[in-house]
Amino acid sequence: MKYIDEFQDPDLARRLLDRIHATVTRPWALMEVCGGQTHTIIRHGIDQLLPDEVELIHGPGCPVCVTPLEVIDKALEIASRPEVIFCSFGDMLRVPGTGRDLFGVRGEGGDVRVVYSPLDALRIAQQNPDRQVVFFGIGFETTAPPNAMTVHQARKLGIRNFSLLVSHVRVPPAIEAIMRSPDCRVQAFLAAGHVCSVMGTGEYPALAERHRVPIVVTGFEPLDILEGVRRTVEQLERGEHTVDNAYPRAVRAEGNPAARAMLDDVFEVTDRAWRGIGVIPRSGWRLAERYREFDAEHRFSVHGIDTVEPAACRAGEVLQGLLKPHQCEAFGTVCTPRTPLGATMVSSEGACAAYYLYRRLDAAPARQEATSVV
Ligand code: SF4
Repeated sequence: MKYIDEFQDPDLARRLLDRIHATVTRPWALMEVCGGQTHTIIRHGIDQLLPDEVELIHGPGCPVCVTPLEVIDKALEIASRPEVIFCSFGDMLRVPGTGRDLFGVRGEGGDVRVVYSPLDALRIAQQNPDRQVVFFGIGFETTAPPNAMTVHQARKLGIRNFSLLVSHVRVPPAIEAIMRSPDCRVQAFLAAGHVCSVMGTGEYPALAERHRVPIVVTGFEPLDILEGVRRTVEQLERGEHTVDNAYPRAVRAEGNPAARAMLDDVFEVTDRAWRGIGVIPRSGWRLAERYREFDAEHRFSVHGIDTVEPAACRAGEVLQGLLKPHQCEAFGTVCTPRTPLGATMVSSEGACAAYYLYRRLDAAPARQEATSVV
């Protein structure tokens, strides 16, 4: 197949669904790790077309959603300073911190700018040598390389008024934490294809072996998801637990060596808190010591952060796959995309946003009404 719409072909989807239906003999719980996959699944009703025995559990792979409240509040504090130009991707602006968001800071006079690349922020720093320019560097292994490259470039060009507020996270330690949770029901993973396109698949065999779970690297189009489910279910039915690459058009076993080298140069692995989940050992990156001068937390001492999560928000359970968004009492009532209580309702990859956007409003999904995946 050459074109993206071919990965949404209804006839091929039906054939894959038929194979999945013919394979399944008992209940299985699969977790799709990435929020982008969750949106494809809910948008196309894929979960409703699968056999009743196959449950898709939504994972924590939404970068905006897992950024800790403390880091959001630090961003708000730094962005409020008159000497600062605070740059971010647009999806962080409406993420609620304690009592306000970055849009609110802009409304109060803060210089908060939406950029489309960290290099845009670096350019702004070059154009404004008398201001401090901070880029909000969040996300998984996918967004970390360009952020690392920007810091590398800042040092090379001698740009001293640029810094990064870092909250990067890594997928494999999150899978480890999910499998160690006493409430875990997950029996297999659809791994995030774009993460593996950077990092490769080398970290997964040990996880699959240790927890005896199939891990199938999966893409983001409807046929990608169905192929990932098919391969996963076939492994489960055979009693196997291997790593399988169902996204070979983007993923090689070694990943992207240049991106990985840049990550190794600029970042070092650290423990990281995930919003709603808690600290996961070795699950994040921070700037390495030799780049510490570009660390916004180091440059701006922010004290007195007192975070308060909304009591009604159950995003932590949603992110761990323990609760479906429409099972939250606030869903669609006090919590909507216009009045979000949690980041999972704001982010373009958030599970609560997917359920709201695609009108999955009832706690019991109507499987029999679903007729199409495209
Ligand atoms: S629906 Fe809103 S309140 Fe409920 S878990 Fe999602 S973001 Fe939180």
